[in-house]
Amino acid sequence: EWIDLSEVMNSAIRTVKWKIEEKGLVMQDHIQDDLTYVYCDGHRMAQVFINLLENAIRYTEQGTILVEMLEEDDVVKISIEDTGIGIPEEELDYIFERFYRVEKSRSREFGGTGLGLSIVKNLIEQQGGSIQVFSEVVKGTRFEIIFPVSSDTAKEGEEE
Ligand code: ATP
Ligand code: MG
Repeated sequence: EWIDLSEVMNSAIRTVKWKIEEKGLVMQDHIQDDLTYVYCDGHRMAQVFINLLENAIRYTEQGTILVEMLEEDDVVKISIEDTGIGIPEEELDYIFERFYRVEKSRSREFGGTGLGLSIVKNLIEQQGGSIQVFSEVVKGTRFEIIFPVSSDTAKEGEEE
């Protein structure tokens, strides 16, 4: 289906809004409102955005969750950034693996199964997109998704 990713993101943000308010975090977003429609599965993209937002909220004690979405040179760039506990550099290569969780002590404190990001990565790649993580301990974490706008690329991904 042809999807306006900004609508999917705005509705994902509405879904997690109460959690952000409950923790006293600030939500900031810069979401371009005239994006080209991309060919993808809206439900899967919603799952991706909600997963990343829930991580950002879970692993942030104070500060801001920043969501950006803009179109540039045939791709939509999406970034979800937090001011949370961050991820140690040596763990960054593993966080997209199934059941991988940073530090056992952390897992006990924060709950979760370690499946979220492996599902996110699969869903994104199935649809022809890619995801990257940038993080610094104590400062925060940024996930960046690149999603192709060209219908060819998007349809290739869909057939997998
Ligand atoms: P689940 O999502 O299945 O409930 P989870 O959140 O532990 O559990 P993932 O979403 O796969 O699992 O994340 C893997 C690990 O990466 C997490 O355990 C956490 O340590 C780390 N992580 C993920 N997102 C962030 C973030 N925004 N800030 C800090 N650490 C993060
Ligand atoms: Mg998670």
